[in-house]
Amino acid sequence: LLYNQVQDLKGSIRVYCRVRPFLRGQLDEPSAIDYIGENGNIMIVNPHKQGKYTRKVFSFNKVFGGNVTQQEVFADTQPLIKSVLDGFNVCIFAYGQTGSGKTYTMSGPDITTDDTWGVNYRTLRDLFKISKDRIHVITYEVTVQMIEIYNEQVRDLLVSDGSNRRYPFFDVSLRDVLALMRIGQKNRAVGATALNERSSRSHSILTVHVQGKDIACGSILRGCLHLVDLAGSERVDKSEAVGDRLREAQHINKSLSALGDVISSLAQKNKHIPYRNSKLTQVLQDSLGGQAKTLMFVHINPELNSIGETISTLKFAERVA
Ligand code: ADP
Ligand code: MG
Repeated sequence: LLYNQVQDLKGSIRVYCRVRPFLRGQLDEPSAIDYIGENGNIMIVNPHKQGKYTRKVFSFNKVFGGNVTQQEVFADTQPLIKSVLDGFNVCIFAYGQTGSGKTYTMSGPDITTDDTWGVNYRTLRDLFKISKDRIHVITYEVTVQMIEIYNEQVRDLLVSDGSNRRYPFFDVSLRDVLALMRIGQKNRAVGATALNERSSRSHSILTVHVQGKDIACGSILRGCLHLVDLAGSERVDKSEAVGDRLREAQHINKSLSALGDVISSLAQKNKHIPYRNSKLTQVLQDSLGGQAKTLMFVHINPELNSIGETISTLKFAERVA
């Protein structure tokens, strides 16, 4: 993606599909992916009765196969970082069923190395680097916020004393922010019976606000970046889910479909954009639509036995693309 192409992203959305590789121990499993084209096409095989298959092609801005590296996935995101520092609002989403690789894309695997760093870390690293490069022209103030939306309730993950404050950074290092992100991750686990369970049923949003002051003329610009690891999109069987589980599932369905509605109404240039239908879209309202830029990574599993969820994920993605 060239820098001038970023201009085309204004008020529009880009959708990238990422296919998780087969995991260890899964290698003999049948695949749901027939082929991945260079041009953003992916063909899915769908088993039919009597052992037949139907095939269906879905089209996106790009499709990343299982062997694509974190660096390659980030390459198309990189120009957006600059635009945040130029005063635009940007949202980057990870969508997909639990286990499809959302957290891998956004944060990286459990034990990350420089090579496996996810979008979050790479984004922050570039943000600091570019703001440093511009230091003689614009001075930036960066603040970071991490929240979780669970059952339509917003919880601040960087606050321990109950007050709602942002963490300001003046000339701070990337390492400071990474330390904060770890605090946020830890706080996310508090009160949850199992970390993975909880994290798959809440949306987590890392927000970076930047304010730049032009040294020559004193004018101020503001930009903001939201990095969103969405709750798992899998449908929960209504006959099986009861109590808390059912309530969680209903909140997730509601907020993900509200997000889909907002993005597709923006794409259709509708007059009324239904931001008020969920906490998620309310929180992100200022960064969806208008001059804002949106990028969505939709994640799918390669296994044939996930085909139902895969198709519903791809349909969601096609609706917003
Ligand atoms: P989600 O956040 O959607 O629930 P995860 O990101 O936790 O899914 O991924 C599930 C598992 O698959 C993890 O063990 C993760 O490390 C692995 N995984 C996901 N995507 C990739 C990838 N692109 N390459 C290697 N392993 C991956
Ligand atoms: Mg996850």
